[in-house]
Parts: sequence; C-alpha cells; structure tokens
Amino acid sequence: MKIHLVNPSDVSFGTAVITPRWLYVIAAATPRTYGDPAIVDETLAPLEPETIGRRDVVGIGIHTANALRGYELGRMARERGAYVVFGGIHATLYPKEAIELGGAHAVVQGDGDHIWAEVLADCSQGAFKQNYVGGRIEAGSFAPARWDLLPKNSYMWASVQTVRGCPKHCSFCSVWRTDGQQPRQRSSDAVIEEIVELRRRGFCFIALADDNFYPVTLEDLRLAAQQHNSARLHELESLRAERFELMARLAKLPSDMCFFTQITMEAAEDPEFLDAMKAARIKGALVGIESVTPEGLKDVYKDFNLAGEHLVERLQTFRRHGVYVLGSFIFGLPSDNPSTFMATEDVAERAEVTFAQFVMLTPFPGTVDFIKWEKSLGDTPEMIGGVPITRRWLIPTPLRPKLFWAHPVMSGEEIRRQTQLVWDKFYDWGSIWKRAQFIKSNRGRLAFMLISRIYRHMYADTGIATDSARKSSSARWARWLAKPCRRLFAGRPMPELQVPAAEELAV
Ligand code: SF4
Repeated sequence: MKIHLVNPSDVSFGTAVITPRWLYVIAAATPRTYGDPAIVDETLAPLEPETIGRRDVVGIGIHTANALRGYELGRMARERGAYVVFGGIHATLYPKEAIELGGAHAVVQGDGDHIWAEVLADCSQGAFKQNYVGGRIEAGSFAPARWDLLPKNSYMWASVQTVRGCPKHCSFCSVWRTDGQQPRQRSSDAVIEEIVELRRRGFCFIALADDNFYPVTLEDLRLAAQQHNSARLHELESLRAERFELMARLAKLPSDMCFFTQITMEAAEDPEFLDAMKAARIKGALVGIESVTPEGLKDVYKDFNLAGEHLVERLQTFRRHGVYVLGSFIFGLPSDNPSTFMATEDVAERAEVTFAQFVMLTPFPGTVDFIKWEKSLGDTPEMIGGVPITRRWLIPTPLRPKLFWAHPVMSGEEIRRQTQLVWDKFYDWGSIWKRAQFIKSNRGRLAFMLISRIYRHMYADTGIATDSARKSSSARWARWLAKPCRRLFAGRPMPELQVPAAEELAV
C-alpha cells in the first residue's frame, strides 16, 4: 500500500516560491511502516496517473481555489483502484462535496496531524469511515515537517508554522472560524529545530506560515489589566514572552537567514516587538491593510486598522524598524467608488510598502461574508454552466465570474479592469526599480526585481485576467523567471549547524 500526498494545481511552474507545508507535515504524520509517501506538488509538475496503483492511498489537500482540480484528481485515482482521502480547509467545510464530486472514500475534517495514522490503518484493513474528525489539536502536538523528503532545487522559500489561529474576526477571512480565535503557539524549541534543519539543507529564506505573528496586542494587555483579570493577563503575558523568546533564538541563527511572516498592523504601535523582529531578521511581513478609508474598514469588520494619513505613518513605522511590508488590499467593497483604485495605489506608494497585492472582494466559504452572500441569494441562486453561483468554485474556470456581488456604483467588469490597472502601475519596471533602491547589493536588487515580476505574473495576471493569451504569457514568464530567481535565494548547505541551546539565549 503506497501513500501519495497531492497538492492540486491547474498551473505548474517547474519552480515554486514557497513549500506547501501541509504535504510535509502529513508526510511526518505517516507511520514509517508504510514507507516514505510519494509527494506531488502540482505547482511544480502535474501528477502522473500511472504512478497510482490499486489499494494505494491518495491524500489530497484542498482549499477553495484548487478544489475543482482536486476533485478531478480524486476521481482519476479512484478509477485506478486507490483509496481517496480528502483533507484541508475546503474539505473540512464541504465533506459531502468531496465524496460526491471528488471520488473520496473518506474525508478528514480539521487538523490531520494525529488522525492521519488512524485513516491509514483503516484503509490498510479496507474498513475506512467516511468522516474523520481531526479537530483542533494543541500546539504542543503539531507534527514537525519531514523536510528530508523535499525535492532538491525546487523551492525558493521553506515554510515553518509558529502559531495557528487568530483572535480577530474579519468578515472576509475564514482563519478565525476554522483555526479558532485562541492562538495555538508552538514552543521555540520545536520551531528552531525545524528551521535549523532547513538551514542545514541550504534554505536561507523561511516563511513563518502563521495566521497572525502578533497574537497579543498592547491593547489586549491593557484591557486585561483594567478588568483585573489576572488569569487572562498571565496567559497573554506568557504568549507575548514566548514570542520574544522565539525571536531571540532566531537572532542567534546564521546571519544569511531571513524570515517573512503575516501580522496585523497593530504591531507597529509596539516598538519593542518591532525591534525584536528586526534583530531576528524577520525582514518582511504581509499586513492586511484591506482598505485606505474608515468606511472600507467598517465594511470588513477591521476597525482596528488605521486609514488615510495615519495609515501611511503606521506602515512607514514598520519600515523604519527594518520590517518591509507586503500590503494586501481589497477592491470592490460596498463603500468603494471609481476613485478608490488610484487613491489606494497612491497610499501604497507613499507608505513605501515593498510589495503589494490587490484582490477583488470574493466571498470565501467559512467566512461571515459568505454566509451573508449565500443567504442574500435565497433558495434559487443564478445557475452558471449548470452550477449554482453559491458553489462558484465548481463552475468551469472559463465560465467563472470574477466578481460575485452586485456593487452599488460600479460594474463587475469595471472593478476587474481597474484592479488590473493598479497591479500594472504598482509593478511596472520603473516603480519596481525605485522600490529596489533600499537594497545595497546588486545581487539583492536583482533578486528583488525578479521576485517582484514573478509575484505579479503568478498572482495578478493568472488570477484576475480574463484574456487567456495574457494568462498563458504570464505563466510562461513566471516559469522562465522562477529558475534563476531560486538560485538567488539558495545558500550553501550547513550540515554541521547545531540547534542553539535555549539557556545560552536567555534574554
Ligand atoms: S484577516 Fe488576518 S487579522 Fe483578520 S481574522 Fe484573518 S488572520 Fe486574523
């Protein structure tokens, strides 16, 4: 019984930016008695059907965007006589769909780290259940990834998770509903051991694949103290202290290492935290800016963000502390109008964000927005290609609309076109060159220019373009650029590197 783990994708680039961590975590959760699982990341190369045999187990992890491709692979694997098991956020939310459309014998809901061994044991007996509930496991028992199974020379960045869950409740985001609002933070020992292993293998750039790297704000601490809630205050202080402990240990790793994470902009009010990030060489952070107006922030329940000039100042604070921002903006909010697009691009430039992504508001399953949207369409939603629009991810890609809400003042096509123009302006060669000036070395500047273009081609054109010629030209560009770019990120392997002892690192 061979085990296959598959990350589905419609587009393969030969080289990918970040390792899909779940593949290597579930590989670690696979008991060694079954041998090493075969790992297929279709963002590198498509799955070859002939590798799947009778009674093999094929584990497919899906999120909403790759569910349709995942179902195609599931049906193919089942036809070849394999046991098909789905997991991931989308399968957790829609287990019946994976069974009806994806050929699934079984679906795992929630964290797979522990329950995967039980699924495999049942498959080996031919006595599987349709549903396995993995739930939300404690941080202390997150499985570390099997990095020894990584294919060589394929990824620019590796990914390590330090915390799951986010205490916020943004309306467009499913993280707080699926991963929970209670941050589950791993110990610094577990995180550092994985990172050291990756550096031994030559990875210098690591994405800390966290929901929110700043789970405790100064305001949370102030409120707990004001309410004389000493248990809560102690819990928050411990979480915060653990963050500092981790950052102090990262700072002791080889100086060619660099980290990237995801964080709320509240961190910019906390200079001590930003300085610790700088010392730890957490040089980049994805910050969900979403909107540059107070009305837009209200639309997405993100009142804790700032707008206008206060926003510009807050984002510049990150940069002053040596943390470079990938700003994420949403277009198509109910309060947006035609002037919003270039006003947003202007803020992104003035706030000196290093990278930016501009996405169109889309109702994702598991979010508050989705529930409202589904309800608003009633029992007889519009059908496209025989599929109700409320199951939009099942609509064949060429027929799938780009925008799903009726906007009060703009058409869907106007929002799509303007969004594309903003991407074009932010990522034209002149703007990228201007932004690259903060980097001192020529090699660094070259890496920055290449990664900026790859980012735009992989995410902008293939995501929002309607023109198929533009899409395939973008995929070609990304493929062509990705190889030399990966070499710029790679470091000399350091097989002798030791895990720094915690006691030497006490602050
Ligand atoms: S968007 Fe970010 S801050 Fe908001 S709930 Fe999701 S992870 Fe948390």
